[in-house]
Amino acid sequence: MPLISVDEALARILSHIRPLETERVPILDAQGRVLAEEIFSDIDVPPFDNSAMDGYAVRSADVAQATLQSPVRLAVAGSVAAGYVAGMRVEPGTAIRIMTGAPLPEGADAVVPYEDTSDFDRPKDERLAAPAGEIWVRATAQPRDHVRPAGEDIHRGERVMAPGRAIRPQEIGVLASLGRESVLVHRRPRVAILATGDELLEVHEPLQPGKIRNSNEYTNTALVARTGGIPIRLGIARDTKAHLVARIRAGLEQGADLFLTSGGVSVGDFDVVKDVLGSEGQMQFWQVCMKPGKPLAFGLLAGGVPLIGLPGNPVSAMVSFEQFARPAILKMLGHTDLAKPEVRAILDEPITNSGRRGFVRVIVSRREGRYHARTTGEQGSGVLTSMSRANGLAIIPEEVECVEPGSEVTVQMLDWPEGAGL
Ligand code: AMP
Ligand code: MG
Repeated sequence: MPLISVDEALARILSHIRPLETERVPILDAQGRVLAEEIFSDIDVPPFDNSAMDGYAVRSADVAQATLQSPVRLAVAGSVAAGYVAGMRVEPGTAIRIMTGAPLPEGADAVVPYEDTSDFDRPKDERLAAPAGEIWVRATAQPRDHVRPAGEDIHRGERVMAPGRAIRPQEIGVLASLGRESVLVHRRPRVAILATGDELLEVHEPLQPGKIRNSNEYTNTALVARTGGIPIRLGIARDTKAHLVARIRAGLEQGADLFLTSGGVSVGDFDVVKDVLGSEGQMQFWQVCMKPGKPLAFGLLAGGVPLIGLPGNPVSAMVSFEQFARPAILKMLGHTDLAKPEVRAILDEPITNSGRRGFVRVIVSRREGRYHARTTGEQGSGVLTSMSRANGLAIIPEEVECVEPGSEVTVQMLDWPEGAGL
């Protein structure tokens, strides 16, 4: 079984993964998806010149000389609120009360904020009850002052988004402002999740001698969902050829785009699984130069559906998911930025390394503007609570034997920014 680097394993896996076909979805369902079309605007945003302040729409020439010491008097011709169009023009010597977002009335070319007028001296309720018939403007205004011009945000005809753009709440808002109800995105991968092992019990089953509960299926299901895939839970396959083959076929029938198995790839039992997977497609078994997570299987099932065989140990399974399965799912979704966010942190305790790339569970915190990392303690690959305490994985390069306290390490953040506790 060849020993390959983390980077090579990832590159080999990704070389078999393509973005999936596209589908049209309502914009509110597009969050976390990747755009597969160009978005052009057929309007200006905002569609008209409008006021950026509550105040008075004026002709700037009228108030060019206005100062606190020699204010300029204007007659108030009317008022316009957001959502309405003024029924009159701003003639020389007049002003129109205007609210934020209201269209700039004809004749006006600037807005004077309330704060720069005699209106500011009056309490708001009094101002609303009896609008002033005249105001004194106490500051000069230049043309376009406090005016948001039509097209300030987006011009008609402009290309606003290109294929490959990841859709976040702000993109959804931009699409809404353009009047787009739906967009073309890559569809979400259906990810079949299969646990292997005669020792595994379902969550609801009472413990029995020699048995443990199947935690990997749950961790993997949650990871798939968080990454944007659609989990298909295939349950537990017993360590027999017939059972494993039956489950894999069930997954293929349910239209799986990717399989994630756990267990059965370590030296003790990989031969059985290798035989089984070998008969269902072309499988390769690797030992990846990392700790935890050394054993890993990868291959293509019948029809070219990729299968990533994660290790059985719960911590190894999760660390391997983050390194290999997450990028694969993201690529299927159409993402091009596949790496997890990393920070540089000061190590608060020594770490020794194994000669492989180490993924050490750490707690990153922020002190005096700098990130610090300390380990979660016991690093056994079966200690899933150590993953639960961690918010990051310190990455220790293969050639580094030990890292001294006070030196900097790269930490791959497990949670960022939500739930990172930073
Ligand atoms: P294996 O690679 O199948 O030998 O599994 C390695 C270790 O991970 C063994 O201790 C298994 O009992 C454990 N393991 C395998 N699958 C799971 C699972 N789905 N949930 C929890 N532990 C598991
Ligand atoms: Mg097993």
